[in-house]
Amino acid sequence: MSLLDKFSALPERHKAILQGGHDPFNVTIDQVKSATEVVINGRDVIMAGSNNYLGLTYDPDCIEAGRQALASYGTGTTGSRIANGTYYGHQALEDNLAKMMGCTSALVYPSGYQANLGVIAALAGRGDTILIDADCHACIYDGCLMSGATIVRFRHNSPEDLDRRLQQLEGDGSNKLIIVEGLYSMFGDTAPLKEFVDVKQKHKAFLYVDEAHSLGVFGDHGRGLAEQEGVSQDVDFIVGTFSKSLGSIGGFCVSNHTEFSYMKFISRPYMFTASISPATIGTVNMAIDKVGQHPELREKLWSNARRLHEGLQTAGLKLCAPASPIISVEMPDQESAIIGWNRLLDEGVYVNLAIPPGTPNSKSLLRSSISAAHTDTQIDQIVVAYTKVLKADPSSQTVSQQAGLVSAAPE
Ligand code: PMP
Repeated sequence: MSLLDKFSALPERHKAILQGGHDPFNVTIDQVKSATEVVINGRDVIMAGSNNYLGLTYDPDCIEAGRQALASYGTGTTGSRIANGTYYGHQALEDNLAKMMGCTSALVYPSGYQANLGVIAALAGRGDTILIDADCHACIYDGCLMSGATIVRFRHNSPEDLDRRLQQLEGDGSNKLIIVEGLYSMFGDTAPLKEFVDVKQKHKAFLYVDEAHSLGVFGDHGRGLAEQEGVSQDVDFIVGTFSKSLGSIGGFCVSNHTEFSYMKFISRPYMFTASISPATIGTVNMAIDKVGQHPELREKLWSNARRLHEGLQTAGLKLCAPASPIISVEMPDQESAIIGWNRLLDEGVYVNLAIPPGTPNSKSLLRSSISAAHTDTQIDQIVVAYTKVLKADPSSQTVSQQAGLVSAAPE
C-alpha cells in the first residue's frame, strides 16, 4: 500500500457531498458586510454559522485598537516569545485576561487549538491518566495523544461514569487530569460542572475546562460556565480561545496554581511557534474590556438564542439541546443534512453542516450559532427559512428523496 492510497476514497466521498449543488466545506465568502451579513455567490446571506457570539468582529473600538497596534508596532512579531522576546503588549494582554477571568496567571497561545495541545501535553505525561469526556473537541484529543499519558474516555456529561472509572483506577499511583468542555460545540449542551467538581474532589484529581464556546456567553463577568455555576475556584485550568466571543484569533489558559507560571518553559506549542500579532493583541485586549463593560451584549445574545430556539421548536424541528447560542437541528441522515444545508443557503441563510466523523454519535446536523448582533428580523428570517426547507414536507427524509439522493440509512 502506498503512502497516498488512503486518499483514494476521498474523491468519491467529496462527490457525494457535492450532490446538493454547493460545496459545504469550501464556501467562498465574497464579501463580509457586517457581523451577520455576507455575500455568497453574489447573493446576500444571513450568517448564522460563525461563532461571533457577541458580534465584536465589527465593533468600531476593537477595529480601531487593532488598527492602532498595526500602525504602531508593525504587522507581526516574526518569532516566538522565547526567541524574540515578549513585547507589543503580550504581557498586558495576559494581565488583562487574568484579571478578567479572576485568576492569578494567564498564558496566551496563537490559537485555541494550540492552547489545548500546549497545556495538556505539558501537564500530563507518561504514567499520568487523563480522563476525557467522550464529546471533547479534536484538539483536546490531539493534546492527550501528544502528552503520552494514558487516555480514558468517559460517557459524555456523565459524572457517574467518570466516578466509576476513577474508582477502577484507585490506587494505581497515577496523577489524574479530568477534561471537559463548558458549552459543547456540536449539540450546544452544557457540562454538569458542579457534579464534575464533586467527583474531582472525591478522587483528588485535577479539573480542566475548555470554555472556548462559553467565554463571553455565561457568567456575570462573561468568564464562562464555571463562573455561572459558581465553581471557578474549583477548576484548576480554564482554556479558551479568542476566535469566538472575542472575534479574533488566539488561545489561552488561566490558572491559580503558582506552578502555572512555569508553563511557558515547558509547553512546546508555546515555545516553538510565533507569538500573536500586534493587531491581534490590540483587538483582543479591547474585546476583553467589552465583555466586562457590556453585559447587555450577553443579554441580547441570550434573547436571540431563545428566540431562534423557540421558533425552530414551534416549527416542529428536532433540536439537540435546550436553548443556547449553539442550536443544532438533528437530521435523519447525512444526505438529508446536505440537501437541507444547500436549500438553506438558497434561501439566504448560512449555517454549518456537521456530519460524521466530525460529530458525536455519528449524527448529521444543521448547526447554527447565534450572535448578539443578529436582529429580531434576521432571527425570524432564519426560522422561516428552516421551516420552508425542512417542514415543506412532513419529514426531512422527503427532502433527500426529492433531490434524488438515496438514503444511506435503512428505510
Ligand atoms: N476548543 C473547542 C471546544 C473548540 O470548539 C475549538 C474550535 N472550534 C477549539 C478549542 C479551537 O479553537 P481555535 O479555533 O481558536 O483554534
